[in-house]
Amino acid sequence: ASGYSLLRDPHYNKGLAFSQKERDSHYLRGLLPPASTSQELQIKKLMHNLRQYEVPLQRYVAMMDLQERNERLFYKLLVDHVEELLPIVYTPTVGEACQKYGCIFRRPQGLYISLKEKGKILEVLKNWPERSIQVIVVTDGERILGLGDLGCQGMGIPVGKLSLYTALGGIRPSACLPITIDVGTNNEQLLKDEFYIGLRQKRATGQEYKELLHEFMYAVKQNYGEKVLIQFEDFANHNAFELLAKYRTTHLVFNDDIQGTASVALAGVVAALKLVGGTLAEHTFLFLGAGEAGTGIAELIALEMAKQTKAPLEETRKKIWLVDSKGLIISSRVGSLQNFKRPWAHEHEHVDNLLDAIKIIKPTILIGSSGVGKTFTKEVVEAMTSFSERPIILALSNPTSQSECTAEEAYTWSKGRAIFASGSPFEPVEHNGKLFVPGQANNAYIFPGFGLGLVISGAIRVHDDMLLAASEALAQQVTPENLSKGLIYPPFKHIRKISAEIAANVAAKAYELGLATRLPRPPDLLKYAESCMYSPLYRSYR
Ligand code: NAP
Ligand code: MN
Repeated sequence: ASGYSLLRDPHYNKGLAFSQKERDSHYLRGLLPPASTSQELQIKKLMHNLRQYEVPLQRYVAMMDLQERNERLFYKLLVDHVEELLPIVYTPTVGEACQKYGCIFRRPQGLYISLKEKGKILEVLKNWPERSIQVIVVTDGERILGLGDLGCQGMGIPVGKLSLYTALGGIRPSACLPITIDVGTNNEQLLKDEFYIGLRQKRATGQEYKELLHEFMYAVKQNYGEKVLIQFEDFANHNAFELLAKYRTTHLVFNDDIQGTASVALAGVVAALKLVGGTLAEHTFLFLGAGEAGTGIAELIALEMAKQTKAPLEETRKKIWLVDSKGLIISSRVGSLQNFKRPWAHEHEHVDNLLDAIKIIKPTILIGSSGVGKTFTKEVVEAMTSFSERPIILALSNPTSQSECTAEEAYTWSKGRAIFASGSPFEPVEHNGKLFVPGQANNAYIFPGFGLGLVISGAIRVHDDMLLAASEALAQQVTPENLSKGLIYPPFKHIRKISAEIAANVAAKAYELGLATRLPRPPDLLKYAESCMYSPLYRSYR
């Protein structure tokens, strides 16, 4: 290959970091200025440049350009500065990028499968240059973050999630495949936008939708085999639950909005219990919001309780109550409830709103997952504090503007007694001379390590016990020192280590359940997980 094309291949390009020897042996002489720099110096320069941009979207575009220019440098940058760059390549900035995707569109990323490709999906998959794919993240763009239907422009999400799979979980970039399924959009603004990149039609639904997804699922299995992980991302809840239920017995599927959220929230609760005392089953849970996040978390908590107490799931579910837009979910509503809410319809009289529900149910743990901000008012927090010494309050709605309350409000209104974590990040808060550090219940704690665990064990199905295993591993990473500040998640800077621990625990569970195909089982799964993780350091070319 010529030196010129080497410089333009993002998998191999090192820019100024090519050594003098490499320049001689790879026909690069004269194609680069004389200076040779280290990867470290390149990182320093890039961070300096990125910080010059005041508009987050400019940082996003700069990061995407880097990914297409020099892949290893992109991942090294992301790994070294994860706390600063995560909000750029992922939420919140990726949301804005999706909204303006048509406008900032340069070189296409990922694979687009639209209604036009019906009957030809297998051929489309074969157009992708990489053969051995381990993780696919797929969206249909109907519920992008908290931003609603962004149609085909949802592609930013699978692209962003997969860069985290690589940076945080160590999945090789060439084994990752982002896919957007375009069945149209109901977003009028996009349909009118001259720069919109997707199909200009209303969403296909019903049979037409189901058939396209079915063809997709089987084309993937035919092309990549049984061990490819298909992560469903940002589907609207009416499709998300159905797709997961339908394909979990035939494919290796995972829905991060339902299952990943559940695993990360359970880990936070389990860690918080070390401060509060009592077992899961000794607590009472109340949720505001009964969608993908709310019912997903509720179900995993009920499952863990059932494991711990050996009580049937039907019993442990009774410790958990949910409120949706119509009030408390109760058995008299069962006829009009969506399937995924039915297990939570307990015997009770009608309760109209959250505050009343709190006063009647007396939960010790309150979880917000409605997507509506400012719903944990002073009255709500005070009510929680009135019957438990240390109430656990999770405000999971994203982005920051939709958070149920701020960290400062939670600590102030509870007089420093609440144990608080949120979906969006908040700064530490000083209250009465004591420093409180709120945790961020970020799904990025779980899914990269979870996926790595599936990949390294060659798992062919996801089992709920693996979600519990991931959750357990995460909770174990929380130190007494973290807890002393009220922090119920470990600091994000250790994420590669955390991901390896999660992967090892998930893989162990896969072997135990007989769902692992990579045999024999490596004796030390943690070491094995670490040894499998992609490193973004440059290799030397001879
Ligand atoms: P979803 O499936 O659309 O569910 C939303 C739920 O909230 C529905 O049950 C809805 O009730 C209920 N709701 C809406 N407005 C309400 C109101 N005013 N009062 C009471 N209930 C109300 O959405 P989702 O996927 O679960 O996501 C929900 C939120 O969680 C989003 O903000 C998302 O960003 C956040 N989230 C956070 C994390 C994390 O922190 N790691 C992970 C995932 C999601 P109806 O069913 O009656 O319409
Ligand atoms: Mn999501």
